[in-house]
Amino acid sequence: MKSNAVIAIHGGAGTILRASMAPEVETQYLDALSGILAAGQRILSEGGSALDAVEEAVRLLEDCPLFNAGHGAVFTSAGTHELDASIMDGRTLEAGAVCCVTRVRNPVLAARRVLEQSEHVLFTGEGAEAFAAAQGLEFVDSSYFHTDARYRQWQLARGEARAMLDHDGATLEAKAAANASADSLPHEPIDPNRKFGTVGAVALDAHGHVAAATSTGGITNKQVGRVGDAPLIGAGCYADDATCAVSTTGSGEMFMRMVAAYDVAAQMKYRGVSLSEAATNVVMEQLPRIDGRGGLIAVDAQGNVVLPFNTEGMYRGYARVGEAPVASIYA
Ligand code: ASP
Repeated sequence: MKSNAVIAIHGGAGTILRASMAPEVETQYLDALSGILAAGQRILSEGGSALDAVEEAVRLLEDCPLFNAGHGAVFTSAGTHELDASIMDGRTLEAGAVCCVTRVRNPVLAARRVLEQSEHVLFTGEGAEAFAAAQGLEFVDSSYFHTDARYRQWQLARGEARAMLDHDGATLEAKAAANASADSLPHEPIDPNRKFGTVGAVALDAHGHVAAATSTGGITNKQVGRVGDAPLIGAGCYADDATCAVSTTGSGEMFMRMVAAYDVAAQMKYRGVSLSEAATNVVMEQLPRIDGRGGLIAVDAQGNVVLPFNTEGMYRGYARVGEAPVASIYA
């Protein structure tokens, strides 16, 4: 069967420079991306739906501690974890999302249940967890989300007494180093790669349908109750067979204000431009108007794939059915 089926994933964007990345760490990221792409590709090659492929890819990204979603999520200002996720089916325009969940192991699975089992689109906090529990989803102790790397980042951000996007890490690192004798903070950046952290997937299946999913721990030291773009349909996630499927990563407040994911679809729909032109316009022209940094991945019903970003790098990759997965990090 001739198929355009394809999956693309991202694991965050930001100032990711080859020079600051240890070769073994780079290999870890590339291996993780390729393995997860292969899992999504397998679903598509067996005739599975784009929705199943993006859900599974994001579930695996959530389970991987390298990425800021699920296990490996960043800390809030209270030292807790509040997770957001969304998923959308381009075939039906059905969508599901959860935000501020603290004990659901895989928020993307909860989002999928909202899509399928609820008349609503977005559940928050306790209500989201009650829904997930009623759906029989797996719960974990909050310690499951703890990773030492994220804890150190939180300690640095607390020193700044403000919420901290991962990409602000270098500034903080310089500061921490300058104050080295005056404080006991570890001398490392919030994130050595100054990357944004969120994960996402978009796919086109052999039946011509697209889907998108996004999941995140948000931003380090965020205020309790802060919600970013990731769980908001139209901002961090969007899918419509008539145009495209989109998942974003970056400074969430700017992506919300630009309704970034939907803007890609809207430009295709109302301006009649290609996926590539629409996505490039949003990432390279619209978001920079308000200092929005980050990127997105998108696929259309013809199997075109774009992965634009306005930062130095973005953990990303795509895999076409029948071809080897392609994973990359730098611009
Ligand atoms: N967009 C995410 C948020 O604002 C964070 C990120 O992608 O790094 O929650």
